[in-house]
Amino acid sequence: MWPGQAMTLKVKKVLHHEKSKYQDVLIFESTDYGNVLVLDNVIQCTERDEFAYQEMITHLAMFSHPNPKKVLVIGGGDGGVLREVVKHECVEEAILCDIDEAVIRLSKEYLPEMSASYKHPKVKTHIGDGFKFLDDYRNEFDVIITDSSDPEGPAESLFQKPYFELLFGALKEGGVITTQGSENQWLHLPLITKLKKDCKEVFPTVEYAYTTIPTYPSGQIGFMVCCKDAERNVSKPLRTFTIEEEEKLFRYYSQEIHKASFVLPTFARIALK
Ligand code: SAM
Repeated sequence: MWPGQAMTLKVKKVLHHEKSKYQDVLIFESTDYGNVLVLDNVIQCTERDEFAYQEMITHLAMFSHPNPKKVLVIGGGDGGVLREVVKHECVEEAILCDIDEAVIRLSKEYLPEMSASYKHPKVKTHIGDGFKFLDDYRNEFDVIITDSSDPEGPAESLFQKPYFELLFGALKEGGVITTQGSENQWLHLPLITKLKKDCKEVFPTVEYAYTTIPTYPSGQIGFMVCCKDAERNVSKPLRTFTIEEEEKLFRYYSQEIHKASFVLPTFARIALK
């Protein structure tokens, strides 16, 4: 996925390692980034910087919707996105569908900051393939967040156009989706350009945004943000919390960084035009 470079963290102690039905699951205690979840040799999240990703992939969608009541998370087995979703009082139901029970089981044991969300009264969990799960829903969700692992492995189908058609069908009018936008603009611009083209064939509104995060390749990762409403400007929050609420609830997201995250360097803006 990132030829000629590697991201390594210093291991203090391996906490758990198993081959689940779908992937190699490793959890280790790092010297400087807390506990780390690795799937098929790819860093998924670390306790130290996960908030940068979990907050942005969640709140770019949630604040682009006027009143999200029913929210679906595909993937997200560590529980971090769920933790962010339920920070919005308007949410009545947050459903998570992850293919691998091992990730949920091990996150509950080793990643308590993220997986505490599974105990929240508004949360429901389903174990299964997100692609299949979505096929059973039409006009059901206000926001769907696809927090999947990378395109190589069990998440491959979640980066193809048929998946975006399923997302479109499962969304209510005015619904919003975010999806892990296949890594970042430094390494995967052709992939992101193709992803945006596929999304544009399904959704009237499609924008790309990114966050900075030390332990992902090149220190950042992007998201596709799409809406069923052609008039919706997802690059500006439709709703905002007060600055005090933001500083109490978030460590990365703010209404200002919401707007800034859609401002791309020229080489990426041109490629994604
Ligand atoms: N934040 C991480 C990132 O950006 O790479 C992703 C975190 S989360 C651990 C990724 C989750 O996607 C994993 O728990 C994995 O089991 C799940 N997953 C992969 N393929 C899936 C599929 N087809 N349906 C549902 N969940 C899937």
